[in-house]
Amino acid sequence: MGKKIGIDLGTTYSCVSYIDDTGNIAIVEAAEGGNTTPSVVYFDPDTNEAVVGSTARQEGALHPESMVERVKNYMGDPYYTMNINGNEYSPAAISSLILKKLITDTENWLGGEEIEGAIITCPAYFGDAAREATRVAGENVTLSNGEKLKVLQILDEPVAAALAYGNSKREDMQKRVLVYDLGGGTFDVTVMDLNFVGDNRSMEVITTNGNHQLGGKDWDTALATYVVNQFCSATGADPEEVMNDPEQIQWYSENIEKAKRTLTNKETVSLTPNFNGAREKIEITREIFDQETESLLNQTIILIEDMMAKKQLTMDCIDEIILVGGSTRMPQVKKRLEDEYHKPIVSYDPDKAVATGAALVAAGLQASSTTAAPGEDPVQPVSGGSIVIGGETGEQTEIIVKCTKSYGLLALANGQDIIANIIMKDSEKPAVETRRFGTSAENQINLNLRVYENDSVTADATVEESTELYENCIVELTPGLPAGAPIDITFNLDASGILVITALDVTNNISKVVQPVRIGGDINNVGMDAIQGTLLR
Ligand code: ADP
Ligand code: MG
Repeated sequence: MGKKIGIDLGTTYSCVSYIDDTGNIAIVEAAEGGNTTPSVVYFDPDTNEAVVGSTARQEGALHPESMVERVKNYMGDPYYTMNINGNEYSPAAISSLILKKLITDTENWLGGEEIEGAIITCPAYFGDAAREATRVAGENVTLSNGEKLKVLQILDEPVAAALAYGNSKREDMQKRVLVYDLGGGTFDVTVMDLNFVGDNRSMEVITTNGNHQLGGKDWDTALATYVVNQFCSATGADPEEVMNDPEQIQWYSENIEKAKRTLTNKETVSLTPNFNGAREKIEITREIFDQETESLLNQTIILIEDMMAKKQLTMDCIDEIILVGGSTRMPQVKKRLEDEYHKPIVSYDPDKAVATGAALVAAGLQASSTTAAPGEDPVQPVSGGSIVIGGETGEQTEIIVKCTKSYGLLALANGQDIIANIIMKDSEKPAVETRRFGTSAENQINLNLRVYENDSVTADATVEESTELYENCIVELTPGLPAGAPIDITFNLDASGILVITALDVTNNISKVVQPVRIGGDINNVGMDAIQGTLLR
């Protein structure tokens, strides 16, 4: 029996954890040192050899066109591929390379012990296409024994973080917590219930929100803009010219993030940019940094308020705020949340909590209540329904898994196109729901079902806020129905995200079952073969 590991496949940094033979949480050290690996891939323009991690970032600084960063933002996008050095890659293929590097480092770290399987985490807001892309990325990693990596689960990041936190406490708790995760390129907020009492524990996501284009990188940009402006007003240089100069771009990318991290520990930092012979020392205080980035922090508060309002919740129901993600190290985060909400705030290992939680689930994964048939592997479905994990001391924790999106059909209401939601966001998975529709014309011969997902928690959503998921799906009708004849549409979304649609013609009591085809379902395979042959240094 090998190790089951937990992988936090982050937008900017990734981390691997496992439970060691003494039952302790261990973190894999990257080949270059450190507990986290930058999620950056660089393809050598001459050899097309790929490198991942801090080396990729260093080498890629000189050839940004051959470097890929923040690929996670595009996971599951049915239309997105990227061309690097003339080759086409899907986000899943690039992620697979990152995972390959993490697995190689893990195998070396474990010194010969095999990897039996992995849990890979993803943001709670990921829809099914993005989860599927993550699973495909993992399943395409070849282990050193020649077998493919077994992906045991795709697990929500806030669930993993909250589990790691709960585990570290080792005490009974019944709490509603708000998990505030500010990473490098994304912000996520999740309300969760933790019921850790005695041996039967459970945890459940109540709701979630986020902005997938807001993270530490925006704080870097704000700081860089400030420094450029200060430098230019002192030296008379042209800000446009500075910001478009390749050497300056490299200097700023090397120094700004470092300066930001320094401001986490110190009240001031100074930088001395150099441009066209002009030099100027610029002092930045934490106060200035906080002012320059206040509007960014405000956006996270607005997203919290928006999430609470949508679900008609108030902060009164929150017992504690858990901080996750590297950017929550900035003192402004804790200070602002304290001033705003007056709740206890805990910071549990912001870089490693997600990987640690995934490792705890991996190690404790048991057969779910849907017991496996004899001879069948008792591992649960990927991205499945409730997960049951066992701890060292005999306790069991049930993780109740929810739909992170609403799913509905394009329909006409009062002459307007709307999305009539059938399965609502935050309902438990698997989910089965029915909604009644009417035919639009007399003697209609078929229905053209168009399935969308959205983040709305109301019965009807707008087309603008929704994304179409499947190819048009045609269902034939028995001729002779009057206009407005009732048709009951049932969505059955199973634990692994597979949707089956049933259309019941109520008048004739005829029901038809269809499984729609996902738009761009094959995109994950783009470049997947090419990367198999790409050597990693
Ligand atoms: P992700 O989940 O997006 O991969 P992480 O949670 O690892 O990202 O967070 C990475 C972000 O955290 C980066 O923007 C990085 O600059 C920031 N960060 C890490 N350490 C610190 C620190 N000490 N002070 C301020 N920001 C930090
Ligand atoms: Mg993260």
